[in-house]
Amino acid sequence: MHVKEEQSKKVKPIDCFHFIDGQYVQSTTGKTFENTNPATEEVMGKVAEGGKEEINEAVNVARKALKGPWADITSKERSNILRRIGDIILERKEELAVLEALDTGKPYEMALEIDITRAAYNFHFFADYLTSLGTEAYQQDQKAMHYAIRRPVGVVGMINPWNLPLLLLTWKVAPCLAAGNTMVMKPAEWTPMTATILAEITKEAGVPDGVVNLVHGFGPDSAGAALTEHPDVDAITFTGETKTGTAIMKAAAPTLKKLSYELGGKNPNIIFADSDLDEVIETTLKSSFMNQGEVCLCGSRIYVERPIYEQFIQKFVQKTEELQVGDPFDSNTSVGAVISKEHYERVNKYIQLAKEEGGNILTGGGRPDGQEKGYFIKPTIITELTRDSRCVREEIFGPVVTVLPFDEEEDVINQANDTHYGLGTTIWTNDLRRAHRVAHKIEAGIIWVNTWYLRDLRTPFGGMKQSGIGREGGSHSFDFYSELSNVTIKL
Ligand code: NAD
Repeated sequence: MHVKEEQSKKVKPIDCFHFIDGQYVQSTTGKTFENTNPATEEVMGKVAEGGKEEINEAVNVARKALKGPWADITSKERSNILRRIGDIILERKEELAVLEALDTGKPYEMALEIDITRAAYNFHFFADYLTSLGTEAYQQDQKAMHYAIRRPVGVVGMINPWNLPLLLLTWKVAPCLAAGNTMVMKPAEWTPMTATILAEITKEAGVPDGVVNLVHGFGPDSAGAALTEHPDVDAITFTGETKTGTAIMKAAAPTLKKLSYELGGKNPNIIFADSDLDEVIETTLKSSFMNQGEVCLCGSRIYVERPIYEQFIQKFVQKTEELQVGDPFDSNTSVGAVISKEHYERVNKYIQLAKEEGGNILTGGGRPDGQEKGYFIKPTIITELTRDSRCVREEIFGPVVTVLPFDEEEDVINQANDTHYGLGTTIWTNDLRRAHRVAHKIEAGIIWVNTWYLRDLRTPFGGMKQSGIGREGGSHSFDFYSELSNVTIKL
């Protein structure tokens, strides 16, 4: 069945404006940039291009709103507003999923089932969490009582990537609102549409004007940089590339902003011979190629214990070749287009590099037959690379995985840890003791055993090493979006 006819005809791409003080506005200069559909290479619309001026205005408005009606509403009222935002996202989920698929090139079904559904859940989750939140209290014998009060951090700048645009943005907006802050969002320049709609949804749900602001634009020397440098921004929450994190840290240093970072990854997927191979293959297809491999958690370095290596390769290649690549609005499609021409060329350069490094391209390695337009890349499996080759070590962020055999547990742990990244890892084994043993030695913030991408929003989410700073989820999000002040009462 083609959902294209049903959905995309009804929903048209939108032109995107900034949202400042509860209104959609153009840039003062009237400057715009084009928004292109990566699956068709067609220009879909225009996006207001913000810079220093728009950021200044949005930050000033957000600072004023900290002292407005938002400061006085009860946590129950805030919780109700968050719940309502989640409800409206669900009421508009087909429309949002179409816009997300048009912007990113990802399959519409995925946008609907994962991106938009989870975006709504982010609000529902923090609506509940907020009402049960406590702080700390200590009695120091008969001498004193100490207790901590929780207050908003202030104005939060949010800088977001393009791969899961609404899902990752709402993962920040929901706890930020729950903790009583105001904000300026800067979505990725490639994916402006769902963030634009989210702004009006927050207003409709009852968020006072000035609390949620949005400025579109680019990163360096543009809206992103202006936000990170702004002296009246108290905290920056950033999801994106590790090297962008370095630039933001430098820009934020003079005003010592609080920082939360979710950065890149090159995640190992370790498969021991005693695991259930069918389950491994089914999940590994997703952890390799879901969202065109453009998920920070994708397990792009696959290590397979030698006794099952050949069998794994044979089944994995066969199943990979069954994945349909193409039109995001065809419900048989599993792999859509990558985000942009630049990214398409970057991923293809890595495939070329793999050949130069002595790799064997078992399947994929180029465009699907018959696709004239669109940034499509066939899911690609590469073997026979050495462990120090660049394709095994660097984040490719596309539908490309490397597979290497291993013999010893200790050796695969060393290989898995031999990287400056430390985001996620999957371990496949039915040996209970080995599962714990290996999990405790792996240097990553998120470790899955016999699964992948299974999330519970109460758990700490984030990366070690150069994959991140801080954790998000449950109380961890509140810790970032709140300031704790300790009150000591001498008895
Ligand atoms: P990116 O770093 O290029 O861009 C992310 C955002 O930062 C964009 O909004 C961009 O405009 C902005 N930006 C770029 N340079 C800036 C600067 N100097 N100052 C201020 N803002 C700037 O990342 P991307 O290509 O959009 O996303 C892909 C990357 O994100 C991958 O590395 C991926 O692993 C990572 N990622 C991590 C997580 C996680 O949870 N750890 C989740 C998703 C994506």
